[in-house]
Amino acid sequence: MGSIDTSPRAESGSDPIPTPNGTTANGLPTVEGSVHPLAMDSTGDSAENESLRKRTKGSGVLPLEVGTRVMCRWRDGKYHPVKVIERRKLPCGGVNDYEYYVHYTEFNRRLDEWVKLEQLDLNSVETVVDEKVEDKVTSLKMTRHQKRKIDETHVEGHEELDAASLREHEEFTKVKNIATIELGRYEIETWYFSPFPPEYNDCSKLFFCEFCLNFMKRKEQLQRHMRKCDLKHPPGDEIYRSGTLSMFEVDGKKNKVYGQNLCYLAKLFLDHKTLYYDVDLFLFYVLCECDDRGCHMVGYFSKEKHSEESYNLACILTLPPYQRKGYGKFLIAFSYELSKKEGKVGTPERPLSDLGMLSYRGYWTRVLLDILKKHKGNISIKELSDMTAIKAEDILSTLQGLELIQYRKGQHVICADPKVLDRHLKAAGRGGLEVDVCKLIWTPYKEQN
Ligand SMILES: [Zn+2]
Repeated sequence: MGSIDTSPRAESGSDPIPTPNGTTANGLPTVEGSVHPLAMDSTGDSAENESLRKRTKGSGVLPLEVGTRVMCRWRDGKYHPVKVIERRKLPCGGVNDYEYYVHYTEFNRRLDEWVKLEQLDLNSVETVVDEKVEDKVTSLKMTRHQKRKIDETHVEGHEELDAASLREHEEFTKVKNIATIELGRYEIETWYFSPFPPEYNDCSKLFFCEFCLNFMKRKEQLQRHMRKCDLKHPPGDEIYRSGTLSMFEVDGKKNKVYGQNLCYLAKLFLDHKTLYYDVDLFLFYVLCECDDRGCHMVGYFSKEKHSEESYNLACILTLPPYQRKGYGKFLIAFSYELSKKEGKVGTPERPLSDLGMLSYRGYWTRVLLDILKKHKGNISIKELSDMTAIKAEDILSTLQGLELIQYRKGQHVICADPKVLDRHLKAAGRGGLEVDVCKLIWTPYKEQN
């Protein structure tokens, strides 16, 4: 479980989210017209098409080949460079009536989307097609071998992948398979590919039970399920309750199906997350907003039961409808409170996603600078680490990033000018939800068993 993803935006108020116009994305990408079956027409270029293509007006470049680079009108109304990742015929269209799955080359893959031909500026087409992509089979149906390879290559995390494996990952995960999900009161547009079992390949929308996280192809199936499902909260122990907020600890070994469902769901919003089917080794901390209808999941983080590398968090996610409310920061803070109770230092598993890194940097900055501000006299990194459960390396990199560390007479010295600290604290943002430690009732896993 490699990647980290939360929404740091609201917490700091100033964290940039990459968008094609360089401003802060206002919540989720809203991809209109992106709900389509996954099935790809990989044999669209028959000889018949070829002859028809020549007859079509303005057909010099149509249909566009996979790999083509062209300018595309985005939702901001401006044109941005894209690369065509995939194409498919429109069900009732003519021979050149394709739509195109494009990657905005300057921006994160979460903004990839299906676009209509009219959004593309055909005058800007660059005809040099990336051969590697062109040669690839365009069907998204994975063979079992390919699927296993993806699972294997994910295990070590993104940074460990060699270039070939990474290309393979990109290749088989390039097009979002599930475009939207229904979860509780929300219909949510997804961000990334998630390797649902093959029988779901023909779905663009899935219906999740918000309590047990079972997923179904049709609304009626979900409605039938909801009449029978007796869960009103995640399975497992409620270990924290404050106001309407509850945290549940779910043991992946005792609740295997729930753990797997959670992973499938989370992968839709995490790019390089490892999808472990072996959820036995993990605990899942599921944060819920509770009301009289039940406890509604807003996000979660997972944690290895035993980590040699002192990881205290594997994956973290705030579901899109609940982002920008400080939950990501709450989850990070919670993971450190668990580490403090265990009497250990912890660090998140790498790699961190762009959003994850921003969240962590913000958290570390706030926690460390709060202490430095109040502290009189010298303080060492080791002492800071003992007080916060933040790993020494993370403390050092945070303080170095803020240029608060100087190297004097052969050792690192923290320089904490109060004015500078205030400036950094302000930039790191405040607010959000605090973890009320006295409401955490929890026994570390080791002692539970
Ligand atoms: Zn259910």
